[in-house]
Amino acid sequence: MKRLFFIATILSALFATINSDAQTVSDSTKTVQKKYQAKAPPTQSFGKKAFGKSKKTTLRWLGMAGFLINSRGTTFMVDPLLEGFDMPLLIDFPILAKDVPHLDAVFVTHADNDHFSVPTNVAMSKVTDVYHSTVYVDSLMKNLNLKSVGHDIGETFKVKNISVKLTPADHAYQNAYPGMSTRWFKNEDACGFWFDTPDGTIWATGDSRLIPEHLTMTAPDAILFDFSDSEWHFTFEGAVKIANAYPNTLLLLCHWGSVDSPDFSPFNGDPKKLYDVVVNPERIKVLAPGEPFVLKRFKK
Ligand SMILES: [Zn+2]
Repeated sequence: MKRLFFIATILSALFATINSDAQTVSDSTKTVQKKYQAKAPPTQSFGKKAFGKSKKTTLRWLGMAGFLINSRGTTFMVDPLLEGFDMPLLIDFPILAKDVPHLDAVFVTHADNDHFSVPTNVAMSKVTDVYHSTVYVDSLMKNLNLKSVGHDIGETFKVKNISVKLTPADHAYQNAYPGMSTRWFKNEDACGFWFDTPDGTIWATGDSRLIPEHLTMTAPDAILFDFSDSEWHFTFEGAVKIANAYPNTLLLLCHWGSVDSPDFSPFNGDPKKLYDVVVNPERIKVLAPGEPFVLKRFKK
């Protein structure tokens, strides 16, 4: 979700604090105890080798909602954010955009700057063959002269050895906040991506409220798992519902532990809370940014 939404949330919390306890706010000697926030493990930096030939499919969380996937030499990123974010971070990025040697494709789920990072994508434009997103985000990419293609929800296409399908999302939160945007957002402006690789299927859900379609997919081998407790995301209970609808699917945690924002739920998931409520909790994978993870099909 966007920084503007974050600011609106923080301001309303701040006004509530000022009204309820003006004395505390005016007391400059007060030491403010910072709220606990779960933080990603230390970053494992990587370089060109991660983009080379391979006989496997390897995923690397980039921090935020981003992933690098190298599937038998086909390299692509989902929602890469490697520089230029407008909020303080808890992590170091595992690679800089300028050090990325080549990508067969970049996939962007929606327009928010934690998913569609303009500085990152512009910095990688010379080494990226093609950008894929929704029709709306494609229009934004074309304004930046990125080589982009816009797709409808449900559309399928190929990137070398990978089949890709856009899955539905419900994340048009802008319409609920008058003044946030002059544009009326549609559900199909945001999407998820389903990747069918030679070594298994990966579902990048994108940011979304829980919709019935999310619970009735063919079980993927891995989900890029957003479990933030936000009403504009799945909510925590909704994320657990998705996890337990596919009880053997690997859960590669993302959208948590990266942004210093203890009061902003979309960036604030805590993996510890998952272990008691997720069926087969050994499939919860708390990756460090940059840590390689080899995809394997689960036994059906
Ligand atoms: Zn997000």
